[in-house]
Amino acid sequence: MREKQVLPVVVVGLTAALVAVIALWTLDRIASPESATASQEGPVEVIEWKLVTTWPKGLPGLGAAPENFARRVNEASGGRLRIKVFGAGEIVPAFEVFDAVSRGVAEAGHGAAYYWKGKIPASVFFTAVPFGMTAQEANGWLHYGGGLELWRELYAPFGVVPFAGGSTGVQMAGWFNIRLNNRADLEGLKMRIPGLAGEVFDAAGGSAVRIAGGEVYTSMQTGVIDAVEWVGPYNDRTLGLMEVGDYYYYPGWHEPGAMLETIVNAEALASLPEDLQAIVRVAARATNTDMLDDFTANNSESLQILLSEFDTEVLPLPDDVMDALYESSQVAIEALVNADPMAKKIAASYFAFAEKVRTYHEISERAYLNGRDRLLPPVSLTAESAE
Ligand code: CA
Repeated sequence: MREKQVLPVVVVGLTAALVAVIALWTLDRIASPESATASQEGPVEVIEWKLVTTWPKGLPGLGAAPENFARRVNEASGGRLRIKVFGAGEIVPAFEVFDAVSRGVAEAGHGAAYYWKGKIPASVFFTAVPFGMTAQEANGWLHYGGGLELWRELYAPFGVVPFAGGSTGVQMAGWFNIRLNNRADLEGLKMRIPGLAGEVFDAAGGSAVRIAGGEVYTSMQTGVIDAVEWVGPYNDRTLGLMEVGDYYYYPGWHEPGAMLETIVNAEALASLPEDLQAIVRVAARATNTDMLDDFTANNSESLQILLSEFDTEVLPLPDDVMDALYESSQVAIEALVNADPMAKKIAASYFAFAEKVRTYHEISERAYLNGRDRLLPPVSLTAESAE
């Protein structure tokens, strides 16, 4: 009687186990993308892109952005869109990146819009405007204030689609081998300073020189230039500028939030399946945000190292120098706007947004920083403070 009862239990148990195994196997088949793709769509198409940059290969910060963009696209697409990054000079020199993407020599690029101001004068609005918007403000203008649409319109004739490609935040005014006391000290000073700021510097009595990142150290060391602005503590330390510059001035009046760019050949982008186009857009947006985070963390870290290990002398630009640069910047911006209809159109949008956000930031960002600093101990820019 006992054995008769045990047998049906075993049969029921074995049947249930078999059903479960078949069910799990079926679920696994349905869930497996490999089997679904192989049986229904054939082999996966892999698209390969080249991305050229204006940065020396392996440069942290600026150079990390295109590497991160490529990695994000590769990962999010499951390897269907593979982007290989080339540093300045590997396929084209730094200042030929835009042309290379425009002609389709490379499908994508990373650099700074103001490098193309000889060809596209209004491009400077999409990197930095002297005494203009900070990174937070410029990002608001680009993504919610009509800025990106104007940028796309500006690049459309060249078959290039731009995306915001990261920001350094407020830069440093740069490394100077003379001490600045007043505006007369700018007279005849040779400085590596690109973009509209170069024209401003010329108008203020100096002499702007255009040099790519890979050459600034030697140019300072050999006395080809007397001063150099590159970025800020993080990337300046990478280039070793504390070894060739005597005084480190702030703030970066000329690049209050230098925006970089990720650019894509318009035809190459349009020829992608829609999901890969979406991945390119999302990866570009993520890279844009990520760079500012990287610079915020590493500029703070590198400043401490410059102060404590290199005894870097960090100084504010004298008011008279700031005044002279501001006056010259107004002249340069007016000349640019009067000479170029697109610059005029973009300037109208840029400065209208800038004025609105300045008003709001008066009672938000500035009010908060002032309020906080009234209560905290004052910061010090000497070696002792960094120890
Ligand atoms: Ca710079």
